Amino acid sequence: MRFETKNVHFQEKLDTKEISKSKPIYQTSAFSFHDLEDMEAYFEGKKSYMYTRVGNPNTDDLGKGVADLEGAEAGVASSSGISAILAGVLAVAKAGDHIVATEDLYGGTYQLFAKELMDLGIEVTFADFSNHKEVENSMKENTVLLYSESITNPLLRVEDLNGLVQLGKKFDIKTMIDNTFATPFLIRPHEFGVDLVVHSATKYIGGHSDISAGVVTGSSSIVKKVRAKIVNLGSNLGPFDGWLGCRGLKTLSLRMERQSSNARALADALAKHNNVKKVYYPEGVSERGEGAIVTIDLADHMDVYAFFRHLSWVKVVPTLAGVETSVTHPVGTSHRPVPVELREKLGVFPSLVRISVGIEDKQDIIEAFEKALEI
Ligand SMILES: *Cc1c(COP(=O)(O)O)cnc(C)c1O
Repeated sequence: MRFETKNVHFQEKLDTKEISKSKPIYQTSAFSFHDLEDMEAYFEGKKSYMYTRVGNPNTDDLGKGVADLEGAEAGVASSSGISAILAGVLAVAKAGDHIVATEDLYGGTYQLFAKELMDLGIEVTFADFSNHKEVENSMKENTVLLYSESITNPLLRVEDLNGLVQLGKKFDIKTMIDNTFATPFLIRPHEFGVDLVVHSATKYIGGHSDISAGVVTGSSSIVKKVRAKIVNLGSNLGPFDGWLGCRGLKTLSLRMERQSSNARALADALAKHNNVKKVYYPEGVSERGEGAIVTIDLADHMDVYAFFRHLSWVKVVPTLAGVETSVTHPVGTSHRPVPVELREKLGVFPSLVRISVGIEDKQDIIEAFEKALEI
């Protein structure tokens, strides 16, 4: 099956006992057994489910569905993108180990690395990943992981996955990529040899802004370790959120195709506008499109607050990836935890606006932004 077909039918081959067209929701904390022999069968690996924190059909479907599209052997879902990142990192790194991470990280991941991992005794060095020489120079004897994002937030730098994997292989260090912005529709990091791929399924995988979820994919052996972390830390996803994630996932291809094409048109239109200093929109991401996020730097004379007030139907939301077009102000939201000096170095200025382009009519989207720019 090709990507789009696999994308819609992923759930059907997962459980042949099903007769319901839509997967039932196993809204339960535990599974019951006929007798002790039946329970023994679970521990012998003849039955799949016992306790929802350890495993549930709806959350497992989401992990397997994303793994299938990423071209990975296995996948596991968790309660959020951040908990997925934490579980993935802890499957590779322990106290005393060192990680090199890109300095243009998603703000929440930056917080997790700079605060929580450091508190756990895992040292993190932040480096400029657009320069792999600097990454190499940041590595130490005890470095176990190189961490980056396939398309970064909010300036949409596209990671050189080939180069990064080569660097990791040369020093026998694992690589982990946050593929949230690209999704497997555009980029499949495992195809480059990346060891762990992580998603905030809160974004495009779910696609409808109605769940918080995360997924980690990789080889069966590495995902087994990630799952153990999720189980032991109690950061499992709930069954209903797993079910909603699967329902969202089925339309990933349609949504990404439409949203990327709308984004391309918006980026082109805004690039011509006098009140926009710069448009950030990636090039050469994939033959299917360049993604659905457009970031703009407003001209110096523009009042950012007034611009946000004049966006009519476009929602001001501190997230991305829904079917509705929305905007956010990185300095005031995702990059609030990032120190000012680093923000300035990265080019995350107060005049920056990140647009998550939805599935609406192209022309309506362009007109809404042109109107807000004319204030
Ligand atoms: C949102 C996001 C996260 C964090 O995910 P949550 O689901 O909010 O925990 C991590 N990485 C990227 C790129 C994100 O956009």
